[in-house]
This record gives sequence, C-alpha cells and structure tokens, in this order.
Amino acid sequence: MTAQVLVVDDILANVKLLEARLNAEYFDVLTAMSGPDALAICERSQCDIILLDVMMPGMDGFEVCRRLKSNPRTHHIPVIMVTALDQVGDRVRGLEAGADDFLTKPVSDTALITRVRSLVRLKQLTDELRLRAATTQDLGFNTPERSFAEIDGNHGKLLLVDDRRSSSERFAQTLRSRHQIDVEEKPQEALFRIAEGDYELAIVSMALSDFDPLRLCSQIRSIERVRHLPILVLIDHEEEGRLMRALDMGVNDYLVRPIDKNEMLARVSTQIRRKRFGDRLSQAVQDSMELAITDGLTGLHNRRYMENHINTLVHDATARGKDLSVLILDLDYFKSVNDSYGHQAGDDVLREFARRLRKSVRGVDLVCRYGGEEFVVIMPETNTGLAYTVAERIRERIAAAPFAITGRTREIPVTISVGIASLNDSAQTAEALLERADHALYAAKRDGRNRVVAEAA
Ligand code: GH3
Ligand code: MG
Ligand code: MG
Repeated sequence: MTAQVLVVDDILANVKLLEARLNAEYFDVLTAMSGPDALAICERSQCDIILLDVMMPGMDGFEVCRRLKSNPRTHHIPVIMVTALDQVGDRVRGLEAGADDFLTKPVSDTALITRVRSLVRLKQLTDELRLRAATTQDLGFNTPERSFAEIDGNHGKLLLVDDRRSSSERFAQTLRSRHQIDVEEKPQEALFRIAEGDYELAIVSMALSDFDPLRLCSQIRSIERVRHLPILVLIDHEEEGRLMRALDMGVNDYLVRPIDKNEMLARVSTQIRRKRFGDRLSQAVQDSMELAITDGLTGLHNRRYMENHINTLVHDATARGKDLSVLILDLDYFKSVNDSYGHQAGDDVLREFARRLRKSVRGVDLVCRYGGEEFVVIMPETNTGLAYTVAERIRERIAAAPFAITGRTREIPVTISVGIASLNDSAQTAEALLERADHALYAAKRDGRNRVVAEAA
C-alpha cells in the first residue's frame, strides 16, 4: 500500500521521527511545520492522509482540521490528530473538529502504522466510489455529496461479543448512552445474529474463553451480506502478532484495556460514521448506475443499455443455435397527439404505452425505449411466428382501449405499427437485425399503419 502522508508538527524532531517510521513502511511523506503551510500543501498536492499535531503556535491543530474539513477540496482527506498523553479532552475536541482518528504521543509503531493503513484503505475505497459517482453524475444524476464530517455517528446499532459479564456490562453501560447495543456471549450465536441482523458495528473481545475470536472475525468477513460490517476488537495489551493478524484480516480498529470511556465512544462513533458514509456512497453509485441505463420518462431500459446488451443476446443465441426475434414498435401519427393535446398529454401516452407493453411480454424479454416514440423488444428463444403473435397481441391491446390523460375527460385513441426481424442461419450482427426490423416497420407504415409486418424471409 503506497500513499502520500502529510506530517504536520512545529517541532522538527517530531516531524523527522514520524517521517522515518512512515518511510520505513514505504509511505511517501510530505512535511509541514505550521498550520498555514499544511493548508497550502493540501490545496496544492494530492494528500491521502494527514498526521496533525494539536499544539502548534499560531494556528493550532484544531483550527487546521476545521478548515480542512470545511473546504470541499480537502474535506475527504482523513486527518489523524496527534495529542499529548495527558490531554484526554483534546481527543474529544479533535473529533469535534472533524478529525477521523487520533494518536497519543509518544506514538507507538503499531498504533501509527495500523491507524494510517486503515484510513488509507478507507480513503482509497471512498475515492473510487466518489470517482464512479462523479462519472455517472454527468448522466443527470445528482449525487448528494455530503462530507464525512457531516455524518452522524450516534444511535448506532451494535453487537458486543464478550463472554466476561463483568466487562461486557461495563462497556454496554457506557455505549448505551449513545447507541443501541446488544450483548452476545456465544460466538457462534453472534455470527448468526450478525448475518441475520442489521448491525452497524461488531465489537469483539479478543479474550473469549473457548473460541478463537479471530475465527469469528474471519467468518464475518466471509459472509457476503455483512462483509463490510466494521469490526472493533478489545485487547488486553498491545499483543503485536495477534493484533497485526486481526488487522490483516480486515478488523477495522482496536481498543486496549483498560479502556478509556471517551476513547471508546469516539472510536465507536467513527466506525459508525465510516459505515454510514460508505453505505451512502455505494447507494449513490448504485442509483446512478441504474439511472444511467434507465429511461426517465417510462422507466424502461434506455437505448444505450439495449445497444450494449443486444450484442450479448445475439452472440448467445447464435452460439447455441437458438431463435431470437426483435420488434420495433412506433406510435402512429404521434406528432398529432402532441399538436392536438400538448406535450404533457404526449408524455402520458408514452408512459401508458410503456406500461401496456411491459405487461404484454415475458420477463426475459428486453424492453427498451429506443428513441422518442419508438420502442424495441428483444425476445430470446422466439421465432418469427411466435414474435408475430406477440406483436399482434400488443397492437390489439393498444388499439382496443383509448388512453386516459391526466386532467382530461376525453381519452385519446392510439395505434402502433410494428416491424419484426428474426435471427436466421447466416451469421448476423445485432446491427443488421435492428436494421431489418426497421425496414419491416417502414413497410407497416407504408401499408397503412396499425399493423404488424415481419420481414420477408
Ligand atoms: P408516424 O406514424 O409516421 O410514426 O408519424 P409520427 O407523427 O408518429 O412520427 P414523427 O417521427 O413525424 O413524429 C414523432 C413525434 O414524437 C415528434 C416528437 O415531437 C414526438 N416525441 C418524441 N419524443 C417525445 C417525448 O418524449 N414526449 C412527447 N410528448 N413527444 C415526443
Ligand atoms: Mg410515430
Ligand atoms: Mg417516428
């Protein structure tokens, strides 16, 4: 994992120390010795993560953090505050200023590397999602891009897995002030509850009496539905080996006993915020991808999706020697609907047509809006004869009942013309197939409309 880390501290020796340790782990290091320098570097270059000293003359770390987090160009860069050991209150202030995590001086190697790695991993994931969301944004979808700092980390739903009742009760009590927490003593039962439930964080004691807690963590990671559930482990002391293994298998964070209440609350909130942020981003990507392949007016697939997919369907049918037919459907004299009743009425007709069309074909048929008032249906395993029957049925259903229009009592009569083409023995491209269907449609129009024409064999 390589990443660019910015180290900010007003004392040169501290900067050098962190730089050396990060270099040893192959991170690229930039350095700054004051708040304003740090802000300037962030504006200028690509930083993946910032290690920020709290106590600096002039602009202190809290102020630097607040500025970074309120600037849309820098708000997504994770900030780790470096606080003095005796200033417990600073940690909470840091999180309030929008910091993503904190480290306490003197900084232990394990803590430094694990915190940096975990935030770099998170940033890489969110960068990728942000990029994908931005790409699809151009297609008309507005991603509600909210900054990580704006996301609430309270009222989470947590599962604590701990078989020592004395400790679990103490933790549960602390966490209950802000979250809904369930406690489970049996690891196998915990796995079941996690897989079935809607938890936002699992807290796992690394001191379970007769079960390997790492096994539970790896089992959680192997269940598709909860693969991204954050896991925080509670350890008795910094046992490097086990902790490293835990972090390698995707455990997100850890707390060392005796556990400081404020630190626990802060780390739990941070994990919940990250989960919510990630969920929101992937939902935005999902929505925008769906939007990118859907026609906004009718909810059918759009032309772009159809043009991508038809090649696969044609190849597949050709390779298996199966039938495949294509319908092109076009509303008759649709321009006059717009002219007589208005564009809104025209839109209503298109929507209602799409609804009837979808109800008249099978689930495996691909229905799409090809352009204005032209639609395409691709029907796998369907020969010309069957396609003709289906097309006739659609034509009748359109002509049989006039279309209701919002705000009007009079219904509008609508008819359609349909052209059909089917795969035949000679090797064919999807393009040629569509062209042949279009020819057949043209013939249907020419012959008087409100009719179905299959291409001449
Ligand atoms: P034909 O029977 O030969 O198909 O005649 P037509 O009037 O249906 O065909 P033409 O291609 O001349 O006109 C199509 C019309 O469809 C023109 C255009 O304004 C209208 N149209 C295209 N897209 C939309 C849309 O999204 N909403 C509405 N209301 N009208 C649309
Ligand atoms: Mg038309
Ligand atoms: Mg037309």
